[in-house]
Amino acid sequence: MPPEIRQLPALVAAQIAAGEVVERPASVVKELVDNAIDAGASRISVEIEQGGIELVRVSDDGHGIEPAQLPLALAAHATSKIRSAADLDRITTMGFRGEALASIASVSRLSIRSRTRAAPGASLIEVEGGEVRPLRPEAGPVGTAVSVRNLFFNTPARRKFVRTPGTEQGHCADVVRALAFSHPHIGFAFRADSRTLFDLPPNQGPRDRALAILGREMEGQYLEAHADEFDDTRGLSLWGLVGMPALARPTAAGQHLFINGRPVRDRTIQHALKEAYRGLIEPARHPAALLMILMDPGAVDVNVHPAKAEVRFRDGGLVHSVVNRAVREALRGADLTPIFDRTPPGAASAGTAAEAGATGTGVVSLNAAGLAGFLSRPVPMAPTGRFDYESVRAAVERADAVLSREAPPASGAMAPGADQAGGGAVADGLPRAMPAARVLQVHNSFLVTQDEQGVLIIDQHALHERIMFEKLRERLDAGDLESQRLLVPAVVDVAPARLELLGPLAKLLTRLGVDAQPLGPGTLAVHSFPTFLFDRGVNPGAFLSELLERAEAEGWGVRGGQEAPETLLHEALDMMACKAAVRAGDSLAEEDMRELVALRERIERSSNCPHGRPTTVRLTIKELERLFGRS
Ligand code: ADP
Ligand code: MG
Repeated sequence: MPPEIRQLPALVAAQIAAGEVVERPASVVKELVDNAIDAGASRISVEIEQGGIELVRVSDDGHGIEPAQLPLALAAHATSKIRSAADLDRITTMGFRGEALASIASVSRLSIRSRTRAAPGASLIEVEGGEVRPLRPEAGPVGTAVSVRNLFFNTPARRKFVRTPGTEQGHCADVVRALAFSHPHIGFAFRADSRTLFDLPPNQGPRDRALAILGREMEGQYLEAHADEFDDTRGLSLWGLVGMPALARPTAAGQHLFINGRPVRDRTIQHALKEAYRGLIEPARHPAALLMILMDPGAVDVNVHPAKAEVRFRDGGLVHSVVNRAVREALRGADLTPIFDRTPPGAASAGTAAEAGATGTGVVSLNAAGLAGFLSRPVPMAPTGRFDYESVRAAVERADAVLSREAPPASGAMAPGADQAGGGAVADGLPRAMPAARVLQVHNSFLVTQDEQGVLIIDQHALHERIMFEKLRERLDAGDLESQRLLVPAVVDVAPARLELLGPLAKLLTRLGVDAQPLGPGTLAVHSFPTFLFDRGVNPGAFLSELLERAEAEGWGVRGGQEAPETLLHEALDMMACKAAVRAGDSLAEEDMRELVALRERIERSSNCPHGRPTTVRLTIKELERLFGRS
């Protein structure tokens, strides 16, 4: 006999639904704060105890709920935000599924105290494990306070996945911070076990709010990015802050992405962002960025993830290209040279050391310490301006107006000038090297010189590699690279699988000035080779076998048949640049050194080699003065 099919009791059904929405205390915080935002609150206060496991309470001064509607707010699939399926096509509220309160109520002890503007007093409703108690009057201000106690008390399996209170508290704080970034007109207070961790005033502008959260000292470490390609229902506008390359981290934790005020994870945006930093950061790292994207609600589907953490775009390609362009534009022309600064003001030294170690570049910068500090520190700040979506648009327009007035700087650090920790980025491109500055070669590997801000220490190989790379790219834009016919073909052994890549790679190889043909199973012959590589004594056979190896490693072989992608061209240029560049240990003539230093100012992205490692480190005069106890 097959097993009997039965309808599940309502509570069990709700608990199953809760499994999708309520993963941990931070999910509760998110749903309750979303509701407060939707209620038009101007101040939202979040309190938690024991990482939110004992208590999450979110209070707001929004429009409240009518007493008669309170039981309905707790019912499954009950919402005031949409009425029909058609409304799903243009969601303008944070919530719309009508299941958060019902789900949370099924796995906790929940109470709502709410009062509308017209009501003389508040009403309280309590529910425990799905059991709703009768409504009763309570004293309380206009607005709503939702308390969630003993989360997962009746679902021990779920409870097991909850981590330590410290970890859960961190997740709760992340949620509040993220929503605070995108709603700077709302004041946000966050208290954990009666300690205020932050208290952000209402009516901040997006930039002030961002810096209030990131830390004021981060001002010089971010560049402002913007785009306005909004045209009625198509396109999008973007405002954001993108971090200096030294802020990049092994995880994407420094990325805060928002679509119409909703924090999201999105691979299209992440990819566009990373592409824009290509060659400025190491491939395994993720740039720091805060990007607020506004678009027509009809152009984005927010109903694809139970916790609404992901979205789907009608035109993902457009999103990719606008983000990529805006970020590249912000980085272009800015001085991205990391600053050597061992003693960042106001930074805990333990954090500095740990973070500096993690950068792996040996460059200790102000930013690292700032980030370490920002997670645990209460944030002091001052209110300025007003913000809503309109004011983001206004900010974008203002920035455009400024740009069209002052022609050249496409972008610049937000706080240009020498008072930024000894001069961070400068608005109008790289600070000039002193015209008559001498260049000193140290251990045949590093060049030391000066510019307006202090001492520059240059890795000769890394810088030359970047210069070769940019020159090669420029030359390729003009046509195929110049090549030389070899009198005797260079013959080399390659694995047969790699040899098969030669066909699909033919076009790319021609562009690079390489003519290579299979000679038999497992051997190939190089007939022509780029002149400049030949002149630098690069071995054609070894070069080809390495290139094929990289093509295979990129997994490109399996996608054979299509044109070699841009990434592979980048790889190939990278290899060429690396092989042609002067090496560490090469002694350089005075004029070659001067030439390198001069080119550093003219070449795009000269702050980092094509792999993303820094080419130059700056020791500012301020830092020197500090080191010698003069200030
Ligand atoms: P959703 O937000 O998807 O509508 P919820 O279960 O989160 O679903 O909330 C159900 C309803 O309760 C909301 O549609 C709203 O009308 C009401 N509500 C919830 N929280 C608040 C609040 N803080 N202030 C005013 N109304 C609220
Ligand atoms: Mg909701």
